[in-house]
Parts: sequence; C-alpha cells; structure tokens
Amino acid sequence: MRTLLPLIALVLTGCGRCGNGLLDSGDSADTWAPPVASEDLGRDLLHTSLAVDMDSLTATAAITVAGSETTGLSLEVQGLEILQVYTEEGALDWTVADGRLDVGVPADGTDPVITVDYAFAEQETFEGWMETGSTLVWPYHCGNLFPCHSDPSDGLSFELEIRTQQEGNVAVYPASIPADAPSYQIAWAMGIYERLALGSTAGGVDLEVWYLAGHEANAVAGTEHLLGAWEWFEATLGPYPFGARAGSVEVSWGPGAYGGMEHHPLFHVATGAMGDRVTQIHEAAHGWFGGGVRIACWEDFALSEGTVTYLTARAITEVVGAEAGDEIWADYEDSLDYAIDNEVIESWPEGCGEVDILDDGLFSLGPYYKGAWFYRDYAELVGVDELDAALGSFFADHVGQAVTMQQMMDHLHLECGVDPMPLADGWLRSMGDPRDAR
Ligand SMILES: [Zn+2]
Repeated sequence: MRTLLPLIALVLTGCGRCGNGLLDSGDSADTWAPPVASEDLGRDLLHTSLAVDMDSLTATAAITVAGSETTGLSLEVQGLEILQVYTEEGALDWTVADGRLDVGVPADGTDPVITVDYAFAEQETFEGWMETGSTLVWPYHCGNLFPCHSDPSDGLSFELEIRTQQEGNVAVYPASIPADAPSYQIAWAMGIYERLALGSTAGGVDLEVWYLAGHEANAVAGTEHLLGAWEWFEATLGPYPFGARAGSVEVSWGPGAYGGMEHHPLFHVATGAMGDRVTQIHEAAHGWFGGGVRIACWEDFALSEGTVTYLTARAITEVVGAEAGDEIWADYEDSLDYAIDNEVIESWPEGCGEVDILDDGLFSLGPYYKGAWFYRDYAELVGVDELDAALGSFFADHVGQAVTMQQMMDHLHLECGVDPMPLADGWLRSMGDPRDAR
C-alpha cells in the first residue's frame, strides 16, 4: 500500500494531545467525527505495510487491525515521533504517552487500515536502526522502528519498501513477509552489497546470499550446504512459509559480534559468522520454528531456539554426513557445559509474559543447548526418524500460529507414545545438569 499523503517532516515536541491540525480532511470535514483516542494494546494486528525513507528517517506504516465493536487501539512507539494518524476517511484522534500511541478507531465492522506517518532515530546496538547499517528489534524494541505490538504471539504479515538516494548504498530487504510472523522478524540492511544466487530448492524457493564488498569467500563457504539443509527442512517439516525468495544477508554488528538473526525471508548473519555453516543453517531453520511457528510467550523461547539448535544438527548430519554431525554435537556439548555453569533461570520457565527475556537471563545458552539435548535424549527413546516426523506434523498443525512448549510436549506424547515431560523436567524445568543424576 502506498501512502495517502506526502510525508510531513514535522518535529513535534512536548506533544500532548496532538491529533489535529496536520491533516486536511477535505469535504468530509463537516461529517467526520472520529472517536476519542483510547487504550487497547490487546487488539489484534493483521498486516503492516511499511514505506521507509532512509535519507530522512521518516516512514509511513499502514496497519490493518482486526475489526472490533470497540474503538480503542494502542501501539508501541517508544522511539518514534508520531506526525499524523489517519484512515482513508480522515484524521483520527490520537495521543502519545509513556511510549504508547492510543488511537480512536471508528467501529464499522470491517478491518480498518490505520496509517501512521512518523519519524524514527538511530538507536543503540540491537535496539532499532543501527549506525552499522541494519535494523534489529528483537525482543521488544520494534517500537523504536515502527508502530507495533512486541508481544510475540501477535503475528502479522508485512510489506516493506525502503527508499534511499545514497550513492552506492544498496538496501537489502524482503518486499513482503507473506505469512503471520512476530514483529521482531522484519528487518533491513544497507551497505555496499553484492548478491550471489544459490539456486532453487525442490520446494521452489530461490535462495540467495548478500555479502558486503570483498567478503565473497566467507559467504560462499558458509552457505555451501544451505540449499541442501533447506531442502531437508522442506522434506522433513513442510513447505517454507515465507515466500519463493529467501536467503542470508551479511550484516556488520560491530567488533566481536557473532551470530545471526532470523529475519525471514532474508535473515541476517554477522560478518564474523558468515563463514560458519552452523549459524547459516540455524537461522534458516528459524523459518520453520520461531518464525513459521512462533512462540506464544517469551517463556517458550526454547520452542524456538532448542528446536532449531536440534534441527540444525539433524540437517548437518543428514546433508553433510555423520562425521560432521558428530562434530556439531561435540561443539554443542561445550556450549551445554557453559550454559549449565552460567544459568540463572530454568530454560523453560512456567507462566506467560512474566519473564523479561533479557533482564531475567532467559536469553542465554540454556534454551538453545539444554533444549537441543532434551530433543536428543527424546530421540534416543522414540527414534530419530519418529521425532523428525513428529516435528513435521507439529509444524503442519501450527504453521502461522503462536504456540507453547507445552503444546509441543503434548504433541510429542501423542505422536510418539512416550511422555516427554520427565526429560523436560530434567533438562528444561530444572537448573543444573540432569546427566549428574544418572
Ligand atoms: Zn536462533
């Protein structure tokens, strides 16, 4: 969707109730009487179409929200300067307080499209648009980049257009995220990029890798088995849910930064990890778990990271070979030992929305490696192929949905006939090393 009105690069300061005056509602001014702004953070977001100007750091977000009998809508906007909020009919009443945009939405029975013109700013590392040339808003910083709900359970589809006149700079981004995804999944990168096609998968996905100038060798080495692993995920788990074009994008996260981020369909990998096939295949696997099936609560982080860590080792074992698989598990074991030595919280805490994934230490190696070991031990009980099949049927049942780790446990019990909870209690619901008790 294109913007209805030109962006107005106004800077509003000390704005209290500031929904009036920027927009001319034209002929409907006499009859247009939008409802008073009110709070409702629970209202479901369906789709966001973002048009971003990277030269002025202004953007327009056209947000389709679920129809409702009520008129409230709240969006997280903690790092944004809101310029105007409107529908096709005219300007809406809105307020901003405590980083939250409240809007009054006419209740007419349809799914209304609320358009927000805004300005955003460069942020600290990993909290929005970064001076190093890419965006990252995981876990709950989307309100520094676009009006959003950071709750991972509120999935939505996206369209994205990035504009820049900057000489030589290429903006790398997906034109759309066609299936429901958590808000942290969308991202873009800018830099001196080159693109390499990796081929088409059996499932019809054109894979590519974008690398920064001069870094081709690492990009080629790290993605050598990406297509094979991708096809193993397609065959084992089901069709890739985020369109027919996908791949890996190198990003600079600053000195010493390692790893990647599951920004499907064009996921990001830090420069230092571009040559690492484990990171590349790990981020690819998030297209199925973490993205395609998203977590209902931050407490379910292990459903994303534990499942993906296990699946990465499975894919490498199948595609590269048993020896490569053994090497992965040996590396994983070092990370597992580190996770256990340093853990401050169980890897699958009870509750929903009570844990601060950063401040409470859940974002640690525990959910990744204790999660992987949970699946590995379970596969020893029920069979590796049986567990593969159960993960595939879980994905088929829940693609596009927000799900809990408990739903995975119930599914495994049903499909494989063995209750996984005793293993989960040891690996995920306890601190320490369950191998000590054997
Ligand atoms: Zn991950």
